[in-house]
Amino acid sequence: MNANEDRLWIVELGASPERAIPTLLTAGNGRIGVRGAFPELGEGGGGIFLAGFYDQLPRPDLFPERFTPFLVSWSHMGKVAGYKREPCIVKCPDFLAGSWRIGGKALDTASCKVQHKARALDLRTGEVRVELRLVTPESIELRIVKRRFASMADETAVYERTELELFNTEAEVEYRAYIDDTTANFNISGIYQDTSDGTDHEYIRLYDTTRTQTQQGALAMDIRGRVDGQRAAFATRLNLPCAVSGEALCIRRRLKPGEVFSFERECSFECSTFHASPLSAVRSRLDSPQMGYEAAKRESDTVWAALWDTSDVSIDGDDRAQLGIRHSLYMLLISACRSSSNVSVPAKGLSGEGYRGMVFWDTDIHMLPFFLYTQPDTARRILSFRHRTLGGAREKAAKYGQAGASYPWETGVSGREECEDFLKLLTHQLHITSDVAYAMGRYVQATGDGGFLKRCAAECYLETARFWASKGYEEGGSFHIADASGPDELHLECRDSAYINNMALHNLTLALSALGRLKAEDPAWYDELVERTGVTKDELKRMERAQSALVSMKGPGGLYEQCEGFFALEDRIVWEDSVYDVPADTQTVKQADVLMLLFLLPELADREELRRNWDYYEPRTTHTSSLSYGVHGILAARLGLAEKAAYYLEKSLGIDLWDTRGGCEDGAHLAADGMSWSAVISGLCGVELNADVLSVSPALPEAWREVRFTLLYRGAKLRFKLDHQQLFIKNEGTEPAAVVLAGRTCTVKAGDSFCRSL
Ligand code: BGC
Repeated sequence: MNANEDRLWIVELGASPERAIPTLLTAGNGRIGVRGAFPELGEGGGGIFLAGFYDQLPRPDLFPERFTPFLVSWSHMGKVAGYKREPCIVKCPDFLAGSWRIGGKALDTASCKVQHKARALDLRTGEVRVELRLVTPESIELRIVKRRFASMADETAVYERTELELFNTEAEVEYRAYIDDTTANFNISGIYQDTSDGTDHEYIRLYDTTRTQTQQGALAMDIRGRVDGQRAAFATRLNLPCAVSGEALCIRRRLKPGEVFSFERECSFECSTFHASPLSAVRSRLDSPQMGYEAAKRESDTVWAALWDTSDVSIDGDDRAQLGIRHSLYMLLISACRSSSNVSVPAKGLSGEGYRGMVFWDTDIHMLPFFLYTQPDTARRILSFRHRTLGGAREKAAKYGQAGASYPWETGVSGREECEDFLKLLTHQLHITSDVAYAMGRYVQATGDGGFLKRCAAECYLETARFWASKGYEEGGSFHIADASGPDELHLECRDSAYINNMALHNLTLALSALGRLKAEDPAWYDELVERTGVTKDELKRMERAQSALVSMKGPGGLYEQCEGFFALEDRIVWEDSVYDVPADTQTVKQADVLMLLFLLPELADREELRRNWDYYEPRTTHTSSLSYGVHGILAARLGLAEKAAYYLEKSLGIDLWDTRGGCEDGAHLAADGMSWSAVISGLCGVELNADVLSVSPALPEAWREVRFTLLYRGAKLRFKLDHQQLFIKNEGTEPAAVVLAGRTCTVKAGDSFCRSL
């Protein structure tokens, strides 16, 4: 790799103390996220989050009389007052906390002169580095360099290495390492901020520390979530002999000018979502010898190399897009647990407390394609989480009087509905149910994993299809679904949403065709499924009826009406800044809805029809959600609208790194990160991933000289290399793959390559 390529793996952030930086520099491995803050920087913004560690956040009173008309339209007003707690990912104790004394005085960066401050993240290895040059009020000049990573090889370990050098004086230097258990979550978020009176906005600690102990020069801490009682444990130790002072590990040196004091810190953690006794897990780790920073990093780097081998997208000719997409992929890779389906990926990953660590459709629809084609095992785990939590979805369906399973709009680790009780999102954002079934269908199609179909997907297809059949009703010879909206949250209360109905139809078809096929192949398995789910013959008939009679909302010329009556609404667009201030009585669309549908189910519209829908909805969409840009970029590319494609891609690619949208201080925009991958692969490189064969029709921006990426598809491992003149594919997998280019299908056998002029 030459120096220039090397540069495009490093995110460098200079002196600016932007609030977003700790998010951008998050270290992680799918089990933990450590925001890129360091005590020596004195800026705050830190946070450590564990996958699957949640508790309840007490929320201040909301004052319904202060709700904007829009929020009123979003709320079951009678329930606002009663709502006081929200499930929330816990901001954990900081097991990397530490403080310095230099020459007998506490080092406080705020009172020092900062001569140099640099922060960088090596995306290849997940190592975060910070370098500081300070002059203390006593005129001591010093340099501190810290490096840190969360191990990809040992998912419960985080390592840190520190160097301190004095330049102009000899002094005694002391470092105290401790676990800070004062960390706390902020008790109100997002759109509610203006609806309470502000006086009770505060930081609240969601856990109690049950025990802190020292063991062989190490510290271990056990905590328990205050309401739900989940447990987690943390340990930290240094690689030098240390004294224990209070609840800190203490090391001291007398340093001469030019001498470097360096030491390492090994931290470990566990939580009850993964281990019956987190404290004994971290304790037993403390009994084993320390591995050392460099050795642990070599192990972790090996895993990273394997992850990047299939995940990287290399863009030659556009450095901004290159760094942007790599940062997005990095964020996705550090957010998904690779070893268990006990957890899924929250909307903000483990990089912040935004959206309270909840999992939405973002994961199944926006992030999944990246994992599916580059890390299919991780994709399977993400979907297995949905199967494992089918109970929560059944509970929700039953609560609202429906059969089958209705997936929660928001959930943490429980799989139950955890969206605020008073919000109509909970009762109306039902599209997530067919989104989950759709995602499973995509997985089965792309991997050919028949085992997963039988073990998990078929049951989910059936239960979700049952839900739609019972939610819908017949009227005037057609089947309708009311009180269920597509992704556009500005029109929650509607009947016959095009998105809902067509995705429900897809869901019903998935169920009926999988059941039909499996019944013929394995009648005993089928009988057992019918018995276990209790689905009746009448229900199956109703599902068939719904499948044949659901209203599609496709109108003349192929234009879909977003929902019944949508075209009759006032045709006025309420732009971004004030979109939440008005009731939902205009044709303003918050985020891709019909267009999202046509992206997910391209067979619903031919090119002309797609163009007609684009022309209608794109100008009416405010993109008040980061989920919206990527899909617009893809459709624009498909329609040959190069300028629009470039515009939306620029918005989506590196959404956090280049801050194209703002608002990443409480965590990264992972759905947009996933859509950026799709926008490059499916949009600009034109690889149609929804079909049974891979068809390619690229439309690379002029500046992009060459793009390289890998896709795993049904046993094939396809290395793509694409420029303006030719497409080259090498199949390093074990199975052949069919590729369609300009209408011609070619089979690339395992071990073969394929090269065509474009
Ligand atoms: C969007 C949803 C999304 C959620 C979490 C909302 O603003 O409208 O579609 O699931 O954010 O990202």
